[in-house]
Formats: sequence, C-alpha cells, structure tokens
Amino acid sequence: MSTTATIDPLVSHELLDAIASFPLHREVTHCGELFQASPLAIYAECPVCKKQVKIRSFSSNPDIEDVFDAVLGWMHQLGADEYIQQRRKEIEADAEG
Ligand SMILES: [Zn+2]
Repeated sequence: MSTTATIDPLVSHELLDAIASFPLHREVTHCGELFQASPLAIYAECPVCKKQVKIRSFSSNPDIEDVFDAVLGWMHQLGADEYIQQRRKEIEADAEG
C-alpha cells in the first residue's frame, strides 16, 4: 500500500477525548443572567443588554476551539464534501454496531 506522505503532528488520546466530549453549549453569565451560546462562537449576544459579549479568549497557545476551527476550515474546501459524507456514514455504521 502506498499513501501520500502527510505531516505527523503529536495527537494525544487526551485531545481526542476532549474533542469527543466537547460540550454542545457554552454557559455564559452576563448582567447576572446565565445563558447558553455556541461553544465555538467568539461572541454571543447577552439576552438582557443585547451587547455582543466576547466568550472566547485568544492566546498564542492554540486551544480546543482552534482544533474545531481548523477542521471546519478543512471541511469547507471544494471537494471535501464527498469524503466527509462517506466518513460520516462509516462512523454512523460503526456506532450502530
Ligand atoms: Zn448583558
């Protein structure tokens, strides 16, 4: 079997577990009100004051949200759709056993 050489960064089981268990919502408190926002969003609108609240921090060290952004960026490429659909079906079939 021959495959195209790819970059081989360190990918830990901890990272994979963190992605698999990444919460579907982010809990945000503003104006004394607790509300839910996208865990990937940079800003969320406070339901009380209607201001855009920054909910994601940026640092020089990448965090798990940056992993999602990178994957989403990859998925957005022309031609990626077919492979994404194919792999989703395989993953769903595996999950169903
Ligand atoms: Zn507010």
